[in-house]
Amino acid sequence: MMRKPVIAANWKMHKTIKEAENFAAEFPYEPDLCEQVDVVIFPPYTALFAVSEALKGTGIKLGAQNMHPDEKGAFTGEISPLMLKDAGCSCVILGHSERRHIFSESDEYINRKVKAAFRHGLKPFLCVGETLDERQAGLTQEVCKRQLSGSLAGLNADEIAAMVIAYEPVWAIGTGVNATSEDAEKSIAFIRGYLGEKYGAEAAGQVRIQYGGSVKPSNIGEYIRCENIDGALVGGASLEIDSFYSLVQGALQLAVYA
Ligand code: PEP
Repeated sequence: MMRKPVIAANWKMHKTIKEAENFAAEFPYEPDLCEQVDVVIFPPYTALFAVSEALKGTGIKLGAQNMHPDEKGAFTGEISPLMLKDAGCSCVILGHSERRHIFSESDEYINRKVKAAFRHGLKPFLCVGETLDERQAGLTQEVCKRQLSGSLAGLNADEIAAMVIAYEPVWAIGTGVNATSEDAEKSIAFIRGYLGEKYGAEAAGQVRIQYGGSVKPSNIGEYIRCENIDGALVGGASLEIDSFYSLVQGALQLAVYA
């Protein structure tokens, strides 16, 4: 595989500053770990700065779970790209299904955020994926295509190549019911094909596409072995050091990236 795998920890609304800081300080990284695998941690906002300090010198990257598209202004309760950079972030998750479904974020709004991320030098991790109803109605590919087309509107091929996309079927997130690697590979190959048609083979060959949805140490290998799957976005199994370490090791041992 020519793409470097990326294993990402989405901590959602979990961990105090102290808990997050301890995780980062105690995570057993090896000096050359991040040459083989990109490891990114997405803590809650309150812990970003402390985790950024604790990760210094490790090569592990830091990201936020969401952001507002504007730099500043009267947006009570929101956080801006400048603030995330200031706290030490280089990455940001955008369009997570919990943002789309619980907080009603539209593709158009997510698109503004993706563009803002690029303007400020933050790497977007764009999430797409179908609900159970959509899957049962045979709409998986149509939904992914609609979300990609809306969320990526106006981007160029270089930006597509530089970002990360996470295919996360909503029914698999936090449920313990993971998609089979065959299903995940099929959707991710479809996504890569779609991006190839729109942005060219080079960008589509470079963009990293993760699978997310109940990934754990016992199933990470199935995904990493798939041709089109470049790592995982992990919620529950990223909260404990042992389990997240096993996921990173799984990617390290099974990825054929050189
Ligand atoms: C996620 O938060 O994006 C996710 C995939 O969660 P989980 O691994 O818990 O299913």
